[in-house]
Parts: sequence; structure tokens; C-alpha cells
Amino acid sequence: MEEEGKIKIEQRFPSWSDMLKPITEKDFKKGIYHYPARKSDWENAPLPPVYTDFNPLDKDWHLPEGWKETILNKMDEFRKKYRELFVWMDICVRCGACADKCHYYLGTGDPKNMPVARAELIRSVYRRYFTWQGKIFGKWAGARDLTEDVIKEWYYYLHQCSQCRRCSVFCPYGIDTATIVWIGRELLTHIGIGHRFSLISIAACLRSGNHLGLSPMGMAGSLESAAEDIKEITGVDIEVPINKKGADILFVAPSGDYFATPHWFTLMGYLMFFHELEERYGLTYTWSTLAGEGGNFGTFYTYKCAQDMNGKIYKEAKRLGVKWIIGGECGHMWRDKHQFMATMHDIPDTLEEPVNPITGTYFENAKSTKMIHILEFAADLIKHKKIKLDKNRNNHWKVTMHDPCNMARGVGFFEEPRYVVRNVCNYFYEMPEHAIREKTYCCGSGAGNLADEVMDLRMRGGMPRAMALRYVHRLYGVNYLATICAIDRAAFTPLLKYWKLQPPVEHGGIFELVGNALILSDEDKERELDLRGNPLLKEEEVKEAVEEVAAAPAPTKEYVCELCGAVFTDLDECCEHAEKEHKIAKNACDMVCSEKR
Ligand code: SF4
Ligand code: SF4
Repeated sequence: MEEEGKIKIEQRFPSWSDMLKPITEKDFKKGIYHYPARKSDWENAPLPPVYTDFNPLDKDWHLPEGWKETILNKMDEFRKKYRELFVWMDICVRCGACADKCHYYLGTGDPKNMPVARAELIRSVYRRYFTWQGKIFGKWAGARDLTEDVIKEWYYYLHQCSQCRRCSVFCPYGIDTATIVWIGRELLTHIGIGHRFSLISIAACLRSGNHLGLSPMGMAGSLESAAEDIKEITGVDIEVPINKKGADILFVAPSGDYFATPHWFTLMGYLMFFHELEERYGLTYTWSTLAGEGGNFGTFYTYKCAQDMNGKIYKEAKRLGVKWIIGGECGHMWRDKHQFMATMHDIPDTLEEPVNPITGTYFENAKSTKMIHILEFAADLIKHKKIKLDKNRNNHWKVTMHDPCNMARGVGFFEEPRYVVRNVCNYFYEMPEHAIREKTYCCGSGAGNLADEVMDLRMRGGMPRAMALRYVHRLYGVNYLATICAIDRAAFTPLLKYWKLQPPVEHGGIFELVGNALILSDEDKERELDLRGNPLLKEEEVKEAVEEVAAAPAPTKEYVCELCGAVFTDLDECCEHAEKEHKIAKNACDMVCSEKR
């Protein structure tokens, strides 16, 4: 990234010739391009039996013999198999409605990061070989030859997409650029091209059952440690059932929750919640060391990878003889379960349709998958007053919520998390409307972009989210960003620091807040600390804080440019400044100009 305070983002529209001219390895920028996959990881994953040993910065990528025919044959196969994909190839009218909706375009200003230009990477080749216009008129019809430079450009730009689908929400035709990108990445695997970060996670998951490669003892040890931390804070002994046959429910979480911070506090919340349900209602559950991962990096690689990776959940559910499955706070786990799981596998006939035995609620939405989200389950219990909560224990947090792309646009999961947050916290504030729910901004690190080598891309792509957060921090004093995705929890740590939001804003899962508020039946001392070990606010401190807010004079309206700190009394002035100084398109200036309090 540029020197502190000097970030310049120049947004411009590409010319037609820009779109067709592929970049070369000389244009690859450090911090933006991914390291290539290693041979050992490639061979340990369910990938095509061809591996290309290339260095992205070399001119010669040593593409395998016949690579061009392989790509075109696969393209032909996919265009017949995935009809929607090739309808999207034909129907884009280049209206530009999607152009400034991609967080990577907003953060990098690179015109090839406009969604329409990203899809054009594939579309131009499709036109050349599969349409009569492209065959006859070539570049005059927006077609281009498939060359080695085009492959380099695919590698560079297809991995600068987090497959978040924000662009599709704004496209009048609903063109799903994320799926086009997915297919593009899959095409690359057929000539042995892939990036390293996702593949390491896929290979580890197939070997050990989780992306981190934790051994069964490592996972069990981690869960036991979390139970010890709970004992210190609540005085309650928590049992951790692992691989327990005949339990009612199999619980699957993203593996980041077993050891990372702040994920750990969410893990504590899960353990306390299930402990309470067993204490009060006799509901039993189990963790599985073989299905110790809900997330699925295969989803961003190939269909076969995705299928092999999530199949373990059903195999374990059958082996352990559970009735149904609950999944934890994870983004791609849920997009995957919601969109593909039931068609990727034969669901074990031992599983039942999920019915909450405590409330009688039938989760019709999970009829086919036999799997529900822990927040749906918690929301149902709260609605029926089946768990006791003390919201005041979260009074030190002023909370806002980030909708993970996969949960928002992949699943449509908006209300349950908000319902739970409102029932476990007194202070909840929404970020601006253009940055939440189906319009949510990506954390900047999705779809395999959590790799450290693409940190520049991540910080730039996460900028719109950081700016929306800064807005509610300034306006309401928000100091907790809640998210229901383990990748977000990892991504926000550097992002919030980079954009100077942490401190004062912490981030974590919703189940951490549930764990704070949950009154355990066998808890016999008053809680003094939250799950992070912070002292809880005393009653008089809460009263003082409320009075202070009420007594504060009404603020004068001012607008601040988040990129350089310049202050204006008028929003239009701020937008003009953002356009002139930072080259931010005027219709996107709400991203950088926020009301100052
Ligand atoms: S909004 Fe849709 S139709 Fe318009 S340029 Fe983007 S992808 Fe094409
Ligand atoms: S899916 Fe998301 S990251 Fe990809 S082009 Fe669309 S907005 Fe950008």
C-alpha cells in the first residue's frame, strides 16, 4: 500500500481496446497476485491430473502441451452443461450498472476489476470460438484469441474476485459474475494452473477433516481449553462431547473457531449454549474430529473439490447416528450447504427432517439438507423463551453487524442474526443501507483471498466495508463489529488495524455475545467478566453512560473525507473533493464521505 495518508485511487472506465488487450506478467503487482499452487498440494487434491510448475512473474509459464484445445474443449462442455452461464455470456448489454459496485474496483481503481470487464475476460474468448460474429469479425465483435497472455490475465484477475455477487444485485439481467469467475477458475485447473492458499487448505481438509490440518487430538485439546476458559469465567464445568455416537445433533463449525482470535470467544459461546440445552432439556450433541470443518475452499476451486470436502459431514452424521445437523457461524459453509449440498450428495436416510424438540418448530427450509444454522436454532429458542439471557452483560458493546456475502447473497440470511443480536445486546446500530443485507460489502478476503501475499488487494477491497464501519463508529460510538463468518473474523483483524479502526472497534462472532448474555442454569456466582476477560459494566456505570449520551449537545453537521480527513460543511463539497483529489466517482462518494460527529 502507499505511504500512510497518501492512498490514491484513480477510478476510470476502460476503452474497448483496453478490455481486449491482455496484460502480461510485467503488469503483475506485488500484493495483488497469488502465489501458485505447489505440486504436492495439487496431487493431494481431487484435481485434474495435470500440474503446471509456473512462476507468475516469468514470461514462460510452461503451459502443458495442447493447453489451448483443453480449455476450448472444456468451455464447449461447460456451455452445454451450464446453460445459464452461456446465457450470461450473450445477454450483457454493457450498461455499466455493475461497474462501480465491486469493492475491488472501488479499492484499486483498476478498470479490469469492474465486474463487466471481469466477465469479459472469459466472454471475449467465448465470442471468438463459439459465436459466428466473433469468428467472422474478430475484435470488431469484441472477440480475442486465446493466448498465453490471456491465461496470465485470467489468473491475475479471476483471483481478484471474491465471488461475493454484489455486482449481480445491481445488474438488470441478474448476470452472476461470481459464477462466471468460478467456471473460469475451474477452466484453469484443467491446464494445471491454480493458486496456493486455497489448495493448501483443501489438501489439509481432505487429509485431516479440517482446513487447518489439526489432528483429532489437536482439535479435542483446543475444545477442552475453551471449556477451561469458560470454567474460569463462569465457574461451570462444561463437558465437550467428541465423536459421541447416538447424540441428537452433530455440530459442525469452521475450524478457525478452534484456535484463532477473536474466533475463540465464539467457540466458547457455542460450548456454553449446547451445555445449557443439555442441562435444561436433555438435548445431546457431538463434535466430530473427522467432520471438524464446515467451511469449504473447494467451493472456489472445482465442483469435485467442493463435493469431496463437504461429503464428510453426511458420512459422519451417518456413522455417529445423529438425527440432524447444526452448523456454526461460517460464510462459505452456508452458501455451499444452501445452494449445492442436497444435490451434490445422496443424503443419508438415517437423518430426520429437523424439528426442534424443545419448541416443536419444524425447519422446513432444511427439509432437504437436514442441516440448520445455529442462529436459526437460537432465534427459535429465544422466541419461545426457552433460554435465559441478561442483555446487560453486553452493555460495554455498541454493536453493528456485517452481513457476510455468502450468508447475505448466497443464503438470504438476514433476520435471524439481527433478532438474536437484539435479544442479547441493548445497543445495536445498522451501518448505512447501501452497505448491509443484500448490498453488503465483502470483507475483501473472500473466495481464497485470505492469503497474506495479496494483502494490498485485501486492504483495498475491504475499504468500503471499513468506511461504513467508521461511519457508525463516529455516529454512535460503535465498538463491536459482529460477523457470522470465520473468514471475516480473520480478515477484519488486519483490515480494521489498517484503516485505523482497531482499536477502538473490536470484532467477533454473534455467539460470543450470546455466550456473554446466556444465564447458565448451573451458574451460581455473579459473572464479573465477559468471555474476553473484560470487566462487565456495573449498574451505575451503565446509568452514567446513558446519561452522558442524553446530555451531549446536538452535534453540528459536518462531512469528513475518510481517505484524507478533510472536513466539509456540505456533502456535495465533500463529494467534489473526493472526485478531484481521489478520483472517486461522484455516485460512489458516500463510500468515502461520511457525516462527522
Ligand atoms: S450490469 Fe449486467 S448487463 Fe450491465 S454491464 Fe454489468 S453485467 Fe452487463
Ligand atoms: S462477484 Fe464481487 S468481487 Fe466478483 S466482480 Fe462481482 S462484485 Fe466484484
